[in-house]
Amino acid sequence: MDEDCIFCQIVAGEIPGRTVYEDDDVLAFLDANPLAEGHTLVIPKEHHERLNDVPADKAESLYSTLHEIVPAVEDAVDAPATTVAFNNGEAAGQEVPHVHGHVVPRFEGDGGGPIHGIFGSRPGLSDEELDEIEAAIDERV
Ligand code: AMP
Ligand code: ZN
Repeated sequence: MDEDCIFCQIVAGEIPGRTVYEDDDVLAFLDANPLAEGHTLVIPKEHHERLNDVPADKAESLYSTLHEIVPAVEDAVDAPATTVAFNNGEAAGQEVPHVHGHVVPRFEGDGGGPIHGIFGSRPGLSDEELDEIEAAIDERV
């Protein structure tokens, strides 16, 4: 546990959270400042700042909880869709440095856009650049 981390404090029961699911590895609770009714956060109980830091077994638990939470949230608030996203690192807008997946219910005409809407202009990559990027990622996984 990181004593200064607000989500670790929720896991430890030191500050209140509206818990919707809990097991040994994962906690899911309502976002305190929701973007839509039912906005839920899913976190590993262990303190890790970014997805990249989460050990494989805990990452599996995290995803399998998301797999259950997404339809449960949609059903609970009668939403036809959800945006499911991680702000993975400060440069991506992550404010709380404890990995958390956002499950945000979406509704027709809710004024939000697709995830593409958070980006500005696109880089316009050549085929050669795409080949290099493809190879660079491929050789690392
Ligand atoms: P991010 O910008 O991805 O780090 O998102 C952090 C999220 O945590 C925001 O949506 C906040 O509304 C939410 N949040 C911050 N503090 C709390 C808290 N004590 N309980 C529940 N949600 C919180
Ligand atoms: Zn933490």
